[in-house]
Amino acid sequence: MTELLDQDIKYLKGVGPHRAKMLESELGVKTLRDFVTTYPYKYIDRTEIHTINDLREDMPYVQICVHITDFSTEGTGSRQRLKALATDGTGYVELVWFQGAKYYERQIKMTERYLVFGKPSWFNGRISVVHPELEVLRPDQAAEGTFGGKLQPHYHTTERMKRASLTSKVLTRLMTEAFTLIKGHDLETLPDYIRSEYHLIDRGEALRRIHFPTSAGELPEASRRLKFDELFYLQLDLLRYVRSRKERGVGTVFAKVGPAFLDFFQNHLPFSLTGAQKRVMHEIRDDLRTGRQMNRLVQGDVGSGKTVVALMTCLLAIDNGFQACLMAPTEILAGQHFATITGLLRDTGIDVRLLTGSVTGKKRKDILEATADGRCQLLVGTHALIEPTVVFQRLGLAIIDEQHRFGVKQRAMLWAKNNIPPHVLVMTATPIPRTLAMTVYGDLDVSVIDELPPGRQPVTTLHYNNSQEATLHDGLLRQLQAGRQVYVVYPLIEESEKSDLQDLMTGFESVSAAFPQYKVGIMHGRMSSTEKDDAMARFSSGETQILVATTVIEVGVNVPNATVMVIENADRFGLSQLHQLRGRVGRGADKSYCILITHNRLSDHTLRRMEIMTETCDGFRIAEEDLRLRGSGDLQGTAQSGMPLDLNIADIVRDAELMAVCREAAMHVVETDPDDCLPQNDIIRRQLKIMTHREDFSGIS
Ligand code: ADP
Ligand code: MG
Repeated sequence: MTELLDQDIKYLKGVGPHRAKMLESELGVKTLRDFVTTYPYKYIDRTEIHTINDLREDMPYVQICVHITDFSTEGTGSRQRLKALATDGTGYVELVWFQGAKYYERQIKMTERYLVFGKPSWFNGRISVVHPELEVLRPDQAAEGTFGGKLQPHYHTTERMKRASLTSKVLTRLMTEAFTLIKGHDLETLPDYIRSEYHLIDRGEALRRIHFPTSAGELPEASRRLKFDELFYLQLDLLRYVRSRKERGVGTVFAKVGPAFLDFFQNHLPFSLTGAQKRVMHEIRDDLRTGRQMNRLVQGDVGSGKTVVALMTCLLAIDNGFQACLMAPTEILAGQHFATITGLLRDTGIDVRLLTGSVTGKKRKDILEATADGRCQLLVGTHALIEPTVVFQRLGLAIIDEQHRFGVKQRAMLWAKNNIPPHVLVMTATPIPRTLAMTVYGDLDVSVIDELPPGRQPVTTLHYNNSQEATLHDGLLRQLQAGRQVYVVYPLIEESEKSDLQDLMTGFESVSAAFPQYKVGIMHGRMSSTEKDDAMARFSSGETQILVATTVIEVGVNVPNATVMVIENADRFGLSQLHQLRGRVGRGADKSYCILITHNRLSDHTLRRMEIMTETCDGFRIAEEDLRLRGSGDLQGTAQSGMPLDLNIADIVRDAELMAVCREAAMHVVETDPDDCLPQNDIIRRQLKIMTHREDFSGIS
């Protein structure tokens, strides 16, 4: 069976080398197996025949069975159209073709009966169907009334495929060929015990139903079965990968809680930890005692206090005779971390240094030396830290803040900085719903700080349209008069987007004109990092009271005196991005505001997004809503960990519940068959091999 499914698709009757190339380049289909797992994305119901007097404009695609009583071509050249009048005895419809008028004119015969398929619309006082499909009814079909009668599958095709006449219809025909070929073969991929436990139908039957359903009722069981396959093997692959990494991944043991940690905890920590911070600290400490390398992701909403958790983990490394490093995605953030940490560690005698691209000359040389000989105990910096010139004497811990800006490869480069790879802690404010985190981050264990420090007032979020300028102006003025500061943010400036820069500049000018008594700063992605740092420093020190900026301020910056975040063209931002921006205010004791500004004609979808923002400050809820509204598409890009297997039918967001079930099933297999030898799992091993041979699962490392 395996050999048959592995057969090159070009040998399938009706395909050949040319179409095979097209299938591979456009759909990634190389083998028969790839082809039969290319699933329809929708079905059109051709089981029902409507009567013309039933048709209404709001109906989706319908079928009618008609005679054509009259037809004529109107217009000339490209504006030519063919109109035909058709009846089934209950009324008349007009059929219209703008394209291919000549072709249809030659085809139509008033003696035939036709099956007409299309979307009804109301035009010129009568129901018409534009560009219908037309099928001649054979006399035997007409006699028996057995026409139509199917759910018609529709397959995705690309423009190139359509130009080469490789349409959904043709794919359906080729699929019929494929099924003739594999008929009678065993297509099963799951052991009986799993199938019966989870009530899954036979895979061959599921495939048949998904491509050629005889009724809509056949579909749910079939799609559940095929989704199960994908999600089960996805989870199994991940679990086995994690297991093997844990077996291989020797790590250093941080057995001690020593003076650095204790002194800080007892004498320097300016607040008591939240319950969530304590729990995460425990999880980290447990990892550090195992003798295996830690690979942990700490997720926590903006302001949840990840920095102090990071710092305390560094102190554990130091107590055990190791160095630690903390890597941030931008110079601004690295600088802020450095300032916060040196502030917290004042008088502890711990050696902390800052290394970024702009540290040069003698200063750089000193830092590199101190890092190499071990005097520097904690090195904070940007990706400058992963350059080969940075050599540690004994690196025991690497912390990466705001992980989504770093690729998997960069993480791996940090590992190589010590003989025994350092423990890795990744911190992110991008809240991925818990059900998905495991799958998206793959090899990382996940901790969640799901509690904000006490006394935080939620940021009041308001949605204004741009006719409410006066109200906005008054509100801002009150805040400024009270000595507070304001951010005004515009959508990102891309290299190519001149109009965005224009918007920002116009915004800067109008804000400056509206508040002449205050100083306004500006900051955007095209400024050099020194210029950006300067702009940020002036705002931070209060020299400027208003900062007009693009999303360069999105991540991490901390100016507690800023209490208002105005977001212009808020509809152009994603929800998670809006949430990040909002997190820049509400960082001090004062009541803070986030004002979302849009024009006033919004789609329902956009309006809903704005409502979510005004309703909640819970990052996880926002992330979940965002996923529901946008689908899982962006998720993988954000997380930067490639999915090990392609999913053709399952969706990690929509099918999150089934994924949890599959994870449990996969976990059971891993636990009950730790040595990979139980005969009832032969079929699983075979299948895993097939799948992992095809897909190179080296992405997550
Ligand atoms: P983030 O998770 O966004 O990186 P930070 O670590 O920057 O958050 O913390 C946000 C602010 O909250 C900082 O000013 C920090 O000092 C403060 N903070 C952190 N933990 C606590 C706590 N347990 N109690 C009170 N304030 C805290
Ligand atoms: Mg932070």
